[in-house]
Amino acid sequence: MNQSHPPTGTMSSAVNGSARPKKRHSDSSSSGSESSTTPLSVSRSPSPSNTPLIDRIAQRIACKDKWFSLEFFPPRTANGAVNLLARLERMHVGGPLFCDITWHPAGNPGGETETSSITIATSAINYCGIETMLHMTCVNQTRIDITKYLNRAKDCGIRNILALRGDVPGDLEWQKSDSEDTFNYALDLVRYIKKMFGDHFSICVAGYPGGHPEAESYEEDLKYLKRKVDAGADFIITQLFFKAKEFLQFYKDCRAIGITVPIIPGVMPIQGYSSLRNLVKLSKLDIPEDILKVIEPIKDNDAAIRNYGIHQAVTMCKEMFDSGDVHGLHIYTLNREVATIEILKRLGLWNEDPIRPRPLPWKTTANHMRTKEDVRPIFWAARPKSYIHRTKDWDDFPNGRWGDSSSPAFGDLKDYHLFYLKSKSSKEELQQMWGEELACEEDVFEVFKCYLDGEPNRYGHKVKRMPWNDDELASETSRLRDRLISINKRGILTINSQPAVNGAPSTDPVVGWGAPNGYVYQKAYLEFFTSRENAAALLDVLRDYPSVTYHVVNHNGKEDITNTDRQQPIAVTWGAFPGAEIIQPTVVDPISFMVWKDEAFGLWKHQWGHIYSEGSPSRQIINHIHDTFYLVNLVNNDYVQDDYRLFEVLEKMLARKEERRREEIEGPDLDEEICSKKLKIDSQSAASTEGIPSSVVIP
Ligand SMILES: Cc1cc2nc3c(=O)[nH]c(=O)nc-3n(C[C@H](O)[C@H](O)[C@H](O)COP(=O)(O)OP(=O)(O)OC[C@H]3O[C@@H](n4cnc5c(N)ncnc54)[C@H](O)[C@@H]3O)c2cc1C
Repeated sequence: MNQSHPPTGTMSSAVNGSARPKKRHSDSSSSGSESSTTPLSVSRSPSPSNTPLIDRIAQRIACKDKWFSLEFFPPRTANGAVNLLARLERMHVGGPLFCDITWHPAGNPGGETETSSITIATSAINYCGIETMLHMTCVNQTRIDITKYLNRAKDCGIRNILALRGDVPGDLEWQKSDSEDTFNYALDLVRYIKKMFGDHFSICVAGYPGGHPEAESYEEDLKYLKRKVDAGADFIITQLFFKAKEFLQFYKDCRAIGITVPIIPGVMPIQGYSSLRNLVKLSKLDIPEDILKVIEPIKDNDAAIRNYGIHQAVTMCKEMFDSGDVHGLHIYTLNREVATIEILKRLGLWNEDPIRPRPLPWKTTANHMRTKEDVRPIFWAARPKSYIHRTKDWDDFPNGRWGDSSSPAFGDLKDYHLFYLKSKSSKEELQQMWGEELACEEDVFEVFKCYLDGEPNRYGHKVKRMPWNDDELASETSRLRDRLISINKRGILTINSQPAVNGAPSTDPVVGWGAPNGYVYQKAYLEFFTSRENAAALLDVLRDYPSVTYHVVNHNGKEDITNTDRQQPIAVTWGAFPGAEIIQPTVVDPISFMVWKDEAFGLWKHQWGHIYSEGSPSRQIINHIHDTFYLVNLVNNDYVQDDYRLFEVLEKMLARKEERRREEIEGPDLDEEICSKKLKIDSQSAASTEGIPSSVVIP
């Protein structure tokens, strides 16, 4: 913890419409040509823009459009990190312009642990889709360390740095060093970043409305602040303060000496008496008398203090907005939600409408290196974090590597162990959801059913998540809910689906995406695990459905049957927008299906099986499903006359299976007719001319 900065963030920027960020050169590292090897015909991406943060801030100021940003600090434990990221996702809904993550030299901030500042910032960018700024202090760090951290930050997709001097730990005094190998001031760090990285990073620096506690004078401190800006800082965030007047005076003084960059006021809601005392001690600030008078008598009443804190922050922020000099706020959240959200709601800054236009049908990231990403395989639709993680080393999007089966294009499956992709629930919670004990396969079917219908399971617990879903059920899935429930009860264990859509407005609250005044389309898609018996019956039934393409595979890929070209992706979602080419952001791609297959089957054992002891009947049931079930994907290419045809196919499949069972009882050697159809590997074959897969060999 540093002396003059609270352990969590301070933030917000209010700026005069006349304030201008300095001109930047275009960032060559972010430009890139599209792959010429892509197997898809893709058009211009509607992905989030690659606009540097400082330009986004400037745009908001120019439009006098109010905004806010949020500061968080890295927690101490891996569980805390997972919870913080969940909180970040929730708070992202409110529409912050960016978030920032503080730097605590004592906590290995530049390391690779779950709790390091760089890991948290990277996860926020990549997995939560939030524009993020990383704090970095330079005191007691060598040039080599700082270079390593900056390079790592760059490689992870971080583009915004709050460059700080920091404080020496404990009660030690900061000492100027003569070594060429270290930095004395934030100014040196700003210069170094500029020298080594040009305009790659938007650089922010700290400002002190009351003057930095070690400064010779307020005026001297302002001069040094100007030097940081002159060296290349793009904007300023201030230390917390308690009176709007103090910030507004500081703002005027900065402008008077020629600081023209945005200056964002850091607002810390008072959330508790002792935490406030602690923070002001660390920051060497004084609490004004009138505030002390109010909070002293209520110091043991946390709710009362928090309510006062909300009122005080709202009043102060309104006064700053009324001045016309402030357009944005930086909130030191102290990693808490309630007070921050309430303040932002009262100021009218919190986005109350959770349905915002989606640029693409899938959740985009804030990583500028993925700006050109405009197509993904559908398989990871419910596990987008896994997809991002497994493709994090791709250097361009979209990418022809889907078409190269020998390339290790997708990162390996160690992502089960990546902290943020691990289950957010404890083993006990998972057992409550997925069954403390399993007696038969039907118990597993019931879990799938409960996930879909939201009814409590037999233990009285709701099944809120499944191994194949990062989040709750997508709203478009609810259109199919009744049909899905019906088939899951009967052993068709669905893990992904989308209904057919034939020209819905792009603003449709459920299936819409992309620019307004466009139309979106999609083919019906179903993906599920099912028994070998069902898979064999399905292949029989599918002979009568030439509009349906399919891919059926077992856990080791030795049985691999499809009626489509094994190299050719099929577009399953596309959109037509005014003045633009057709955009097709979701595909069923046979090569990546084989990569996904390993993950999808692996989740049975790694996530579900592992909650039971080794050798237990429950674990054996899960292992048996893993070993004997097939993963199937079905696409109905007739999106115009869909009529839920895939469900018709599945009803026929179940009927066919029953028929075969009866025949087996009544007639001779029916096993041969049904299950002994050997599902052999057909290395690269496409469909036979009759639409019967050549890989299904009837002995
Ligand atoms: C918005 C914000 C975020 C922060 N985040 C963190 C964080 O994540 N982690 C953390 O440990 N701390 C953080 N801090 C605290 C910060 O590290 C301390 O306040 C620290 O004491 C000063 O850092 P600085 O970057 O402002 O220092 P500097 O700008 O280097 O200034 C430090 C002192 O040196 C003087 N000075 C500056 N340049 C010169 C010069 N060239 N010659 C002589 N004197 C000079 C200044 O007047 C000032 O008194 C934050 C502070 C703020 C306001």
